[in-house]
Amino acid sequence: MTQAHSTPRITGVILAGGRGSRMGGQDKGLLELHGRPLVEYLLEALQPQVDAILINANRNQARYQQYHYPVISDDLSDYQGPLAGFAAAMQAAQTDYILTIPCDAPELAADTAARLLAALQREQAEIAVAHDGERLQPVHALLPVSLLPSLQAFLANGDRKIDLWYAQHRMASVDFSDCRRMFRNINTPQQQAELEQSSSSPDKGAKRRVEAAGRLGGVSSNGFPVIGVCAWSGTGKTTLLTELIPRLKAAGLSLTVIKHGHHNLELDTPGKDSYRFREAGADQVVLASRKRMAMMQECKTQREPELVDVLRLVNRDCADLVLVEGFKHTAIPKIEVYRPSVGKPLLYPNDSHVIALATDDMTLDVPAHVTKLDLNQPDSIAEFILQWRTRQLAPVTNTNATIRTAPSCADARDPGSLSITEARRRIMANLQAVAPALKRPLRDALGQVLAHAVISPLNVPNHVNSAMDGYALRSDDLPGDDSRAYRVIGKAFAGQAFSGECGKGECVRIMTGASMPAGADTVVMQEHTEAGAEGYIRIGTGHRAGQNVRQAGEDIAQGSTVLPAGHRVNPADLAVLASLGIAEVSVMRPLRVAFFSTGDELRSIGETLAEGQVYDSNRYALYGMLQQLNVDILDMGVVRDDPASIETALQQAAAAADVVLTSGGVSVGEADYIKGILAKLGQINFWKIAIKPGRPLAFGTLGKALFFGLPGNPVAVMVTFLQFVQPALLKLAGETEYEPLLLDAICQSRLKKQPGRTEFQRGIVRREAGKLVVDKAGYQGSGVLSSMSKGNCLIILPEETATVEPGDVVQVQVFGWSG
Ligand code: AMP
Ligand code: MG
Repeated sequence: MTQAHSTPRITGVILAGGRGSRMGGQDKGLLELHGRPLVEYLLEALQPQVDAILINANRNQARYQQYHYPVISDDLSDYQGPLAGFAAAMQAAQTDYILTIPCDAPELAADTAARLLAALQREQAEIAVAHDGERLQPVHALLPVSLLPSLQAFLANGDRKIDLWYAQHRMASVDFSDCRRMFRNINTPQQQAELEQSSSSPDKGAKRRVEAAGRLGGVSSNGFPVIGVCAWSGTGKTTLLTELIPRLKAAGLSLTVIKHGHHNLELDTPGKDSYRFREAGADQVVLASRKRMAMMQECKTQREPELVDVLRLVNRDCADLVLVEGFKHTAIPKIEVYRPSVGKPLLYPNDSHVIALATDDMTLDVPAHVTKLDLNQPDSIAEFILQWRTRQLAPVTNTNATIRTAPSCADARDPGSLSITEARRRIMANLQAVAPALKRPLRDALGQVLAHAVISPLNVPNHVNSAMDGYALRSDDLPGDDSRAYRVIGKAFAGQAFSGECGKGECVRIMTGASMPAGADTVVMQEHTEAGAEGYIRIGTGHRAGQNVRQAGEDIAQGSTVLPAGHRVNPADLAVLASLGIAEVSVMRPLRVAFFSTGDELRSIGETLAEGQVYDSNRYALYGMLQQLNVDILDMGVVRDDPASIETALQQAAAAADVVLTSGGVSVGEADYIKGILAKLGQINFWKIAIKPGRPLAFGTLGKALFFGLPGNPVAVMVTFLQFVQPALLKLAGETEYEPLLLDAICQSRLKKQPGRTEFQRGIVRREAGKLVVDKAGYQGSGVLSSMSKGNCLIILPEETATVEPGDVVQVQVFGWSG
């Protein structure tokens, strides 16, 4: 569900990745002014202006991480200048725009983002860059992340000059001559001393605010502060909420409470008008009276609603604060209610979103990030919530990201990771289809993508003809009140027309497909006639003018589009094309895809396995999946984990193919190893994607070829291929339909999951009692191939989904392999 954002979201990027040459190689972001590192000034100035913040640093990362914002380094090594930082930030940002700010100019204007954005929109420019009245200040810029491919191509060319890259795009130059202070930067120790003299010292609260900003956010994308109360049932969530509500109301807040009900929620009863409207099929029934209003909406799928869906229904006027009961697995800040006497385990150790524990046992030890609250003191719990809310809404905390210092697989969302949607968007943006090939004879076009739309050269059918065996006659001569006799004046067969004309009182014996005789426009099927006197038949009443006749062009009209460009030709299309007499069509050239596996432990079939060695299966999975897509395949075998061999293989692959795929060697442990080689040969990004399996993925260009570095684990290879490579290949091949078909099915298994990552589980989907149902296909480890082969679909569990219970509706992507 996309929310309509009236203003685009912006990530502020502090560029602290420079060499600091004129400062004796010092890291300028950490240089101090009035006793505080420069980076803090910029964090403080940026926080109120942007939706998220990234720090771009190429050393001292641990120091920068103390600020609890993601720290990213350039993909290019050796301090290649601001453009390298731009590229790294565009890759990591989860927003539409980045606002780049140098780390060494501490006096950033409070409305920098707003002014750049306003100018960009006003001038309909692609990028907006600050101007100090005398010259452009190129690193104070607002840039859409969609320009990443353009920037990468520029960098891949060896270009580093910022203004040359800007010159390739529509740029708004934005006047900041009224606040030239913001461009005063520190390049030399002397400038540092000057700035120290002339700038004012920061206020004491600033540092605290900077630190606070990295904490867990609880503001929904609609702007409501949302906090949950979670507990095992029977612990007293509802009681606590009813105690808190009057206290929070007394503080002047309008409150929305959302409760998740597990069952078939019934608010009205049979017989009520509202019930009858619902029964009659209304999708939504709104009841309104002077006292209150109620809205009942039928859930179209049987899937448990997600909190985001429910939040869309919330009335802004009633939502100074949204309290949530239930939705235990949703990634929102929560207060856990805990009574040891209930005998249930604590939730917070497994839920990083718990910010406080309300308990009746105040002797419990809780970690520092969880605030302990006395369950018997609702006043103090209400006070905690009020303070929490104030922090959420303060401008310094307007980041909506959940940011922690040490990301791990168990996290709701690793801040450095990309969502699957964003990864796909970046991959699919700017992919250009290969050039069309020459015309192909009709049969050879099967499975190929049409380069041009096929326009019908004729009408199908090309003549008005009968749809039935029967008798053709004139509609103005059909029987009126009683049956009538007609004289049979001749016969019409398919391919053998009747040459005369059908007059009143006459009919022509006609076969299916035969041209309609002149004068006749209606056919009465044989079964509805009776034999009459010699040479006559009788027809009864109840016939319709024009019945049982196929008009010329009824199937396909001459000049109409039969098949659009970008359509992959299937057997039915072959028949349609043949029916038009089309002997050849223009198709796109098939893609050439080269791939190899990396890993010293891999052996090819036919070799014997020593201990620790495994047979290479990834090339077989890739071969099989590529075959399904009708591409030309270049299998380059197994390449050892040896830089020279990998480099040679990559070069050969890139020279020979449109797309190069590798598997293995991109996980955290090995990334640096291949990274160096790839950086030398092409422009590659190393991503951590919030999916399971298949978190690491390398993507970019190697010379003219597109490159995907897939993970090593066999299931992860197949999942990442299906999610990222396949749509890209289809688009490159010129196909316009590259999104997979997803079906809803009722899940019959319990699928354990934490919110925060999109998961792909292997499932077996089938029909049962007229409905699609799906079970998981055995053990789900990312190296466990057998569940992939046993399964016939991927069960897709979206990022925000928690554990799926039997009976929930899930989406499945059916493999549909053909043998
Ligand atoms: P890597 O990403 O290279 O660290 O590999 C992750 C895991 O996948 C390791 O257990 C590898 O042995 C396994 N693996 C990598 N490539 C292949 C392959 N081509 N066939 C089977 N297993 C592989
Ligand atoms: Mg490996």
